[in-house]
Amino acid sequence: MSYVSNRVLKINVGFLLADGPGHSHETTFDVPEIRVADDLTLAYVRGSMRLSRTKEGILLQGQLDVGIRGECYRCLDPVTQNVTLELEELYLYPPQPGAELVVDDTAILDLAPLLRDEALIVASRGWLCQVDCKGLCQNCGTNLNHAACDCAVEDIDPRLAQLKKLLK
Ligand SMILES: [Zn+2]
Ligand SMILES: [Zn+2]
Repeated sequence: MSYVSNRVLKINVGFLLADGPGHSHETTFDVPEIRVADDLTLAYVRGSMRLSRTKEGILLQGQLDVGIRGECYRCLDPVTQNVTLELEELYLYPPQPGAELVVDDTAILDLAPLLRDEALIVASRGWLCQVDCKGLCQNCGTNLNHAACDCAVEDIDPRLAQLKKLLK
């Protein structure tokens, strides 16, 4: 699998910093499969954002549609969750020590850490591959969406199994 480099998420805002407070710039994204961070791959990033120069730095506002790659929490099959991220964040300039979102000394605003934070919040809620995902067999691990297994027929409550033994 080849990914788009996450360098496309690094936006040079040198011209905006030079223009001074009150100026803004619209930027659009239409990016295919991209590895944002080691723990986050997005199937796509689409949308537009407004970057505005303020006294504190660059205010980023916009909506991005992203496809978050992950897995179904019940059966672990790969799933892409389509979500719209509402973004409104201030990137500090000059960069402040300890702040995560800053425009660095080379006038680069990196969207990756922000996308990662937002996407991982959504991902942490977990999702299913389908509303009625059958999950994995607790006994043999078969993915019951794709195949049946023999233990499924013997799927009796352990307390009932105990009772059944007593009755014999
Ligand atoms: Zn599933
Ligand atoms: Zn089974």
